Amino acid sequence: QFPFGRRLPCDIYWHGVSFHDNDIFSGQVNKFPGMTEMVRKITLSRAVRTMQDLFPLEYNFYPRSWILPEEFPLFVDEVRMMKDSDPSWKPTFIVKPDGGCQGDGIYLIKDPSDIRLTGSIQSRPAVVQEYICKPLLVDKLKFDIRLYVLLKSLEPLEIYIAKDGLSRFCTEPYQEPTLKNLHQVFMHLTNYSLNIHSGNFIHSDNVNTGSKRTFSSILCRLSSRGADVKKLWSDIISLVIKTIIALTPELKVYYQSDIPAGKPGPTCFQILGFDILLMKNLKPILLEVNANPSMRIEHEQELSPGVFENVPSPVDEEVKVAVIRDTLRLVDPQKKKIKDVQQYIESGKKKVNVRHNFVVCYRCQALEHVPEAHEELLDAGPADRPEYDTSRSPEPGLPSLCLKQVFPKYSKQFNYLRLVDKVAVLFIRFLGVKGTTKLGPTGFRTFIRNCKLSNSNFSMASVDILYIDITRRWNSMGIDHKESGMCLQAFVEAFFFLAQKKYKSLPLHEQVASLIDFCEYHLAALDEKRLVCGRG
Ligand code: ADP
Repeated sequence: QFPFGRRLPCDIYWHGVSFHDNDIFSGQVNKFPGMTEMVRKITLSRAVRTMQDLFPLEYNFYPRSWILPEEFPLFVDEVRMMKDSDPSWKPTFIVKPDGGCQGDGIYLIKDPSDIRLTGSIQSRPAVVQEYICKPLLVDKLKFDIRLYVLLKSLEPLEIYIAKDGLSRFCTEPYQEPTLKNLHQVFMHLTNYSLNIHSGNFIHSDNVNTGSKRTFSSILCRLSSRGADVKKLWSDIISLVIKTIIALTPELKVYYQSDIPAGKPGPTCFQILGFDILLMKNLKPILLEVNANPSMRIEHEQELSPGVFENVPSPVDEEVKVAVIRDTLRLVDPQKKKIKDVQQYIESGKKKVNVRHNFVVCYRCQALEHVPEAHEELLDAGPADRPEYDTSRSPEPGLPSLCLKQVFPKYSKQFNYLRLVDKVAVLFIRFLGVKGTTKLGPTGFRTFIRNCKLSNSNFSMASVDILYIDITRRWNSMGIDHKESGMCLQAFVEAFFFLAQKKYKSLPLHEQVASLIDFCEYHLAALDEKRLVCGRG
């Protein structure tokens, strides 16, 4: 800890809350710029909704949500329409203030008119969401799962999931919501921070019982009841990968703004807490993503009335120590150096004729400065092998690794979803001034011109109107008023609009994919032309 500032650069910076230091020029930071903003309830709901527009079936693991206050009329209309078409539908909704945590300010309602509009709503934006009425129960109690996920790198995307997590239990037997029980938080909300205050909360030294258990203990129980636990895990892995795919486009915009390409800067990694609810039919539902999950391995115990002491919590210890230990192993600076050197050597081998001296020089450095390198390099195996194979522990004597790589391991199954990522790459290309996150009108015009999107049906005057319309609307509801211009979500909306206009009869995701190809083709041709001119 450096309460008075640092003198020397570090290999790993472990920040408590967020990426907030702009004087780090090397090493690795345990937070991504913009992650805290990205996982706020409204931003997450928006990012997932963009993906739901493109791939409704793939993203049906997130409850239908509306953003308040701006979508209140839409919420009222849609609920009325759904009720009209199915009079037997008796929904419940959950209202969650944006930026809240630990169940703070959350309440359930039966009808849109029950939303507490008095005063606070304008000042406190929120998400209202369909309430999952039929959760899976264990011992008659509702519970949720906290899973730890390591986002090891954004570019290339690398995701690891911890093999075990926590299950956090309610402390009152569950009943489907009725007007009478809507207010009973110990029955409906699984937050540890709330239920700890219930007289029924059970601290247990056993990971299979009590109000906080390991997820693996739940899986054992489900498996003994004949549930398809393998399918459940595979659904959870899909949910995690798809959620991160929804977050990456904006994270890339934040990243290039805080750590501009070509300038010295750190790389980032981050442990995320995924909160997941299982439905009765074992379908996992994403509740939220936590950018700063608690890593406490103790809990408070009341020794005698009014006297509290921190005592170890075996359940937390079992899950969290493994997550931190494996994260540190995966981001081990020594291993990173070896990997970089290995990449140099690999790329050098291919270019050996042209850059012979350079390669030799790096090869010497690798063996001189990193004594362990030799053995690791020999041991490395083929390039596409996952970095850590869970079947072999790299340090004998330690328990086997808990973090499992899921991306790029399963990338082939999910890469088709990464369309908005490609739109973000186009957006970043036209941002121009380094360090910004919003596109100016000139940048947008250049995008249209360079990608040859303007024609007799779509004049440059219409382009300007499109820019002004969309930008104004997004800025009027945006949280970030620091910069003016078009934010990524506004650009995505404009891009979808252009794609629909150009490729009328296709489904939206095909329209967007076709427009991306079209733009990339013209930009590549332009780059080629510039290269030739440059050479000339
Ligand atoms: P917070 O960040 O305040 O904990 P969450 O989104 O995690 O907010 O919601 C708090 C709790 O409310 C969850 O742990 C879960 O038990 C319950 N909950 C949240 N959303 C839903 C939902 N759509 N359906 C059913 N229960 C939910």
